[in-house]
Amino acid sequence: MQIKHVNEQFSVSDQLTIEDIATLRVAGVRTLICNRPDDEADKQINFQAIANRARQEGMEVIHLPVVHDLINAGDVDDFERAFAASSLPVHAYCRTGNRSFTLWSLMKVKQGSSPDAMIAKAPELGYDFSKFRTRFSREIENWQGPQGKAMPHRDDYDIVIVGGGSAGIAVAQSLLKRTNGLHIAVLEPSETHLYQPGFTMVGGGIFSPQQTRRPMSRVMPEKVTWIREAVVSFLPDENRVVLASNATVGYERLVVCPGLKLNWDGIEGLSETLGKNGVTSNYHPDLAAYTWKLVSEMRAGRAIFTQPPMPIKCAGAPQKAMYLAADHWLRNRLLDNINIDFYNAGGVLFGVKEYVPALQRYIERYGVKTQYSHNLKKIDGANRKAWFEHKDAEGNSSMIETGFDMIHVCPPQTAPDFIRASTLADEAGWVDVDQETLRHKRYANIWSLGDVASTPNAKTAAAVRKQVPVVAGNIVNEINGIDEELLYDGYGSCPLTVERGKIVLAEFGYGGKLLPTFPAWLLDGRKPTWLAWVLKANILPPFYWAGFLKAHEWLIKSARRKKQA
Ligand code: FAD
Repeated sequence: MQIKHVNEQFSVSDQLTIEDIATLRVAGVRTLICNRPDDEADKQINFQAIANRARQEGMEVIHLPVVHDLINAGDVDDFERAFAASSLPVHAYCRTGNRSFTLWSLMKVKQGSSPDAMIAKAPELGYDFSKFRTRFSREIENWQGPQGKAMPHRDDYDIVIVGGGSAGIAVAQSLLKRTNGLHIAVLEPSETHLYQPGFTMVGGGIFSPQQTRRPMSRVMPEKVTWIREAVVSFLPDENRVVLASNATVGYERLVVCPGLKLNWDGIEGLSETLGKNGVTSNYHPDLAAYTWKLVSEMRAGRAIFTQPPMPIKCAGAPQKAMYLAADHWLRNRLLDNINIDFYNAGGVLFGVKEYVPALQRYIERYGVKTQYSHNLKKIDGANRKAWFEHKDAEGNSSMIETGFDMIHVCPPQTAPDFIRASTLADEAGWVDVDQETLRHKRYANIWSLGDVASTPNAKTAAAVRKQVPVVAGNIVNEINGIDEELLYDGYGSCPLTVERGKIVLAEFGYGGKLLPTFPAWLLDGRKPTWLAWVLKANILPPFYWAGFLKAHEWLIKSARRKKQA
């Protein structure tokens, strides 16, 4: 099977084998559509066999068989109805995937997209759409009028920013502060802006969920154009991005910062049970409060905290959730009755060794059993069971089954699908930028920052704070013809909430070099301090809304060098 990603929510392929279904499940597919009639060829695996296996994997299945030369408006109506009722993402297949992609393309044209966009997309997926217009002229004319609608081009902008999260909003403000008159668009589909560093505090019963969210309209700078749509692909050779509606937006310079993808479906059974059966995650915007409910109601039993392979955002967050829970149980004299396990896919407690001794002391204080090289693969919430893949020192794997009363899961994380599928990505799928200048390695008018960038720093909002002036400064220098580049040193920070009222404040740059903001006599990040707690609990949240997002770039000094050819 060759999966071809049309966008984040839809993919097509050739005929499936039974084994392919597990692969689709791991890729996150929720609905399978078969567009191939049974018995079209010898030894073809018919729909029922595929459907039985897919249902066992928890997928919805739909059979809409079509013959390519006979596809008509009625088939498109059926496909549209099925697609609208499906859980996303959807995967459709036929003999080669062509019929499935044709049905999807016709549905989009019916819904107003330009046939040209579909014709342009087809060769990327290996399909020949040269006869698309003539073959479906009657249907297109019925839906769109005699000329069809052209792929709508929205306005062009000096700068287009993809994503209005921590990075997108701060970089827009920073650009506006540095120079007047720039015509900037932020492309962001979400109506809510999230302060994710606060999720840990919600999970610890310290913040309310409301403290971590604001309407996007309140943080969006007044002088930018907010386009409330997701980007689905890039046309970097034409300096345009393609939106979900299929319209395109042009740019002189592009900043890419749509964050990363939390791959909940990367763990079998997790999506079905999240938010119930004692299964929670502070990584989910709506579930940090459920973490606190589970922790505050637990009196005895087994609590598990998991950490997937790196990279993840805020690498300390899985253990922060654990320390705050353990501290609560200790203070309430419940810890003798609660066993805590930390299952970590990695081999060390924290990636920068200077912070490990302080954290290890808390592991001992709370009696946590650490299980390294254990990667969560499957979960059965109803029966309170979890399965971990364990790799021994020789690299042999085995599956370990264990029970739990509550489990805090940190999901595996990747670059978003539309980034991974684009020519902007490096081999691992992240936006391929120079780690100092944050400029794309192949497209000189593209920059990236935040969680989606390929830079090997700790993926944190603290890192974004130091990256913003570098990206904005470099763009404005170029616009003004200034021959100087600002450089990012890899700074990231992770405030490890080891107990209520104390934090081990890890601050480090590329290669694990310690980069403390304060002198050690005031705040030594290698030790648990109350001052770091005050920073996290009282100072940083209001600073985030009123300082960080408004481009008040205090205590940031980026290195500079003459621009290299
Ligand atoms: P995000 O802030 O995630 O924003 C991405 C934006 O892009 C979103 O608004 C999204 O809607 C938008 N988007 C997505 N897809 C598209 C698309 N196709 N088109 C257009 N827009 C799109 N950091 C710290 O510094 N300290 C901490 O203590 C800390 N703790 C954390 C604890 C948890 C539990 C979590 C989950 C994160 C934590 N972080 C912490 C990490 C921090 O929140 C992130 O590193 C930071 O938000 C990254 O910013 P970003 O702009 O790259 O991504």
